[in-house]
Amino acid sequence: MGETDTKKIGKVFNIQRFSLNDGPGLRVIVFLKGCPLSCKWCSNPESQSYQTEILYNSKNCIDCHDCQTSCSHQAIDVRRPYKLLREHCTACTDCVQTCFANALTVIGEDMTVAQVMEKLEKEDTMFRYSGGGVTLSGGEPLTQADFAMEIFKACKANGWNTAIETTGYASEESIRKCIPYIDLVLMDFKQIDSAVHKKFTGVENERIKKNARLISSLAKEMIARVPVIPTFNADRESIYEIGKFVKTLPNIKEIHLLPYHRFGLGKYKLMGWEYGLSDEIKTPDEAYMKELKEMVTSLGLTCNIGAI
Ligand code: SF4
Ligand code: SF4
Repeated sequence: MGETDTKKIGKVFNIQRFSLNDGPGLRVIVFLKGCPLSCKWCSNPESQSYQTEILYNSKNCIDCHDCQTSCSHQAIDVRRPYKLLREHCTACTDCVQTCFANALTVIGEDMTVAQVMEKLEKEDTMFRYSGGGVTLSGGEPLTQADFAMEIFKACKANGWNTAIETTGYASEESIRKCIPYIDLVLMDFKQIDSAVHKKFTGVENERIKKNARLISSLAKEMIARVPVIPTFNADRESIYEIGKFVKTLPNIKEIHLLPYHRFGLGKYKLMGWEYGLSDEIKTPDEAYMKELKEMVTSLGLTCNIGAI
């Protein structure tokens, strides 16, 4: 294991403590900004852009217009509906500093590996007692592969468990860089039909399928995750095809079926975006999820409903 480059900079948009669902034990999730996919149900829409962004919360806004005055880039139009003109915004954050009502939030901060590790090291006791560790998520953490690798390397040097949540949409080079330092890969499998995949995520899935073979051949441990999304992949045939594909991969410990939810909905409002799926689409019920689980189990896979 080479020395960690603690000066390497990455763009982080959240560091979340006490997570139980993204690897063993108690974990801290470090969310990296930027994703090549744009899934219509994305619960972290603020993760998609590689740039630092400003979010506006109308509930806190007291209409003082100070933000517009402070912005020297004419990136704010306070007339209703309030508009942040992202094409003009340089993310200088002057408006955020000006807004005393806390209606504006910065999403995305350039941090060095040392700064991230300083926060993580405070959790050392929790990691040791719970058998937990650090999970990198996003966005797609492999799009910041050099930064991700250095974080993983530093975590392993501290003896912590490491995990990654990945879409699998990444270069082979970035996968090969990071994988030696990762204990558990949590990889999404969304849809086998590439045209349908593209319609709902913005990208075709050939690269993901190819990378699934590579990652599963290299990973110490791997869990396949399937978000079950009505109108996209929740039909029996789509889930069966995903299960069949996963079964062909070496080294898969489990497959997890994750029922659709709309937890990210509020964030779309803050972003000024339309949510990608219809309001009519509901979470699949428990009985149906059990039926899908039995079908996947019949393929010879260990299947759970929900994340670990
Ligand atoms: S400074 Fe804050 S409270 Fe005032 S108009 Fe701008 S967003 Fe609203
Ligand atoms: S971050 Fe800077 S450029 Fe962007 S809207 Fe705020 S003040 Fe204007």
